[in-house]
Amino acid sequence: SPRGRLDVFLAKTLNVPKKSARELIKAGRVTVDGDLAKEASAQIGPFSQIYLDETALRADTPRYLMVHKPVGLVSATIDQEHATVLDLIPEALRLGLHIVGRLDLNTSGLVLLSNDSRWSESMMQPGAHVPKAYRVTLEKPLTPEYIYAFAQGFYFETEDITTLPAKLVIIGEHEAEVELYEGKYHQIKRMFGRFQNRVTALHRFRIGALPLDPELAPGQWRLLSDDEKRACQ
Ligand code: URA
Repeated sequence: SPRGRLDVFLAKTLNVPKKSARELIKAGRVTVDGDLAKEASAQIGPFSQIYLDETALRADTPRYLMVHKPVGLVSATIDQEHATVLDLIPEALRLGLHIVGRLDLNTSGLVLLSNDSRWSESMMQPGAHVPKAYRVTLEKPLTPEYIYAFAQGFYFETEDITTLPAKLVIIGEHEAEVELYEGKYHQIKRMFGRFQNRVTALHRFRIGALPLDPELAPGQWRLLSDDEKRACQ
């Protein structure tokens, strides 16, 4: 854990120049262990509790968030061309966050973010029985044969794997819900591609027992409760 000057810590954590960090301290917005910080040069220890306004700033404070990813943002931490889902998160919370299970650029829905890699890894392991549920809109009508094919699995030559049994429920002529226990590259699009059927819209609405909060509009995010943190494991 870091140790050193308060202004250096703030600059690093918030990704701002040291001058801006000192201004935050001057403005009385930073506390260390409950006391208003006065000196930019104050020494902080590895267990100091540092707050900017109401937000705890230690990089190692575990954070768990859900985001309603809109179409057109990438779920990567850095991208040259497009904005990323991390750009939706305020700087004070962004440090050290990673994305737990990516979605394609043109896919919308539930994305989880955390800085707790043990939590995310336990969820993303191939053996982890955490289903990811998607609503899919197709160009051509669905037929009952799809159900069997998805349950059987598809052989993907590039990865030399057969997809795990997936549940497909037809909910309309052009609409299905699909539950996956893994996430190969463009997996759902490739599965429907076997029927020469193009996915025209794809939305993830649940991970494990955790649904996307219907109150969150595309682009909005919120912290998870402790129960929700457990619901997706
Ligand atoms: N399958 C896809 O093809 N794309 C996604 O974003 C998720 C699952």
